[in-house]
Amino acid sequence: MARKLAVIGAGLMGSGIAQVSAQAGWDVVLRDVTDAALTRGTDTIKASYDRFVAKDKMAAADAEAALGRITTTTDLDAVADADLVVEAVFEQLDVKHEIFRALDAIVGEETVLASNTSAIPITKIAAGTTRPERVVGTHFFSPVPMMQLCELVRGYKTSDATLATAREFAESVGKTCVVVNRDVAGFVTTRLISALVVEAIKLYESGVATAEDIDLACKLGFGHAMGPLATADLTGVDILLHAAGNIYTESQDEKFAPPELMRRMVDAGDIGRKSGQGFYKH
Ligand code: NAD
Repeated sequence: MARKLAVIGAGLMGSGIAQVSAQAGWDVVLRDVTDAALTRGTDTIKASYDRFVAKDKMAAADAEAALGRITTTTDLDAVADADLVVEAVFEQLDVKHEIFRALDAIVGEETVLASNTSAIPITKIAAGTTRPERVVGTHFFSPVPMMQLCELVRGYKTSDATLATAREFAESVGKTCVVVNRDVAGFVTTRLISALVVEAIKLYESGVATAEDIDLACKLGFGHAMGPLATADLTGVDILLHAAGNIYTESQDEKFAPPELMRRMVDAGDIGRKSGQGFYKH
């Protein structure tokens, strides 16, 4: 019998996680707060399956079957019988706390609760529940159907069995896992990208090199697919400001302190591709 996965949040990440899970045979219930958000999420999933079918990377019948395995709901009680829950709502601790508290009260005792947070310590999210040993980070990357990595994060109390459940899930949807053994803010990946982007912005801000040359240095010198400033534009300067700011607050490590230029760009709305202007014009 197919296992049931609940995905909380039908945004960019939640819809991607639902997509790859349904494709891998999970029965998925996708929950968001509004019907409009659910429609946007399922439209994104359909469009992505269509692209895979058009490129002969997926059979049309498989895409249809996968879509048929996804149900949507605004009612949190509809996820009560899930075997595993993955949360992918806004990156705000109070919002995540509210959801984890509610989930903790309705799902089965053994059910593992996973969060897709990019930077909030899993231990903080887990602290709002009565089952911190069954709370874990499953950090997927965007776009989920294309990106190979899932960063598994142990909270302070996460059990080995929970980590194994998270790994089994991520591998079942085709991902390769790395394990973050200590629950540091930003884990491994967000810490690395934040440190690189912050330093790149400092170099640019102080006139050491142009944005183009900083990015070119990383591409040609290190073989990176994309330079850090182009990455900031793609991800959103606002998103990275928030991530680096959180890591800085938590670690008090100066290398994560967001530079003035980064703050002013966000104040001015120059947040990258989303607004048409960031370090580059789009
Ligand atoms: P998003 O803004 O695209 O989507 C968030 C969704 O959560 C929205 O549809 C919103 O309506 C919904 N939501 C809010 N409160 C809810 C609730 N109480 N119940 C159900 N749904 C609710 O966000 P996203 O980019 O998909 O990010 C989601 C999470 O994944 C965040 O924690 C983020 O840090 C993390 N993440 C994002 C990326 C990325 O590249 N965007 C990558 C890795 C991890």
